[in-house]
Amino acid sequence: MATPRPFKLRVGAIDYTVSYVKDLRDPDSGTPLFGLLMNSTSSISIEANMAVQAQRQTLWHEIMHAFLFQAGVRAEEHSERQIDVLAFGVMGILNSPGAKHMLP
Ligand SMILES: [Zn+2]
Repeated sequence: MATPRPFKLRVGAIDYTVSYVKDLRDPDSGTPLFGLLMNSTSSISIEANMAVQAQRQTLWHEIMHAFLFQAGVRAEEHSERQIDVLAFGVMGILNSPGAKHMLP
């Protein structure tokens, strides 16, 4: 059975499509990427040739970028490291024993 993965997500008020792509690359530079957020098309792409937990962490990473974009925070106002701190932090909370009691 395939590992369940989200293909649509509502981030803030915007619906994003999520796709899982083998050999994901930056469309401009051709640089290999783990994840790519395209705000202009409300889409997120995740490198499919990674462990499932790495795909999930990368998806949270891109979601954090989307949160900041929607809040008007420019890319140069935060670092990739800060984004990863948030993404790993959210994953840790979701994996904690009491997480199910934190849902809305
Ligand atoms: Zn990033």
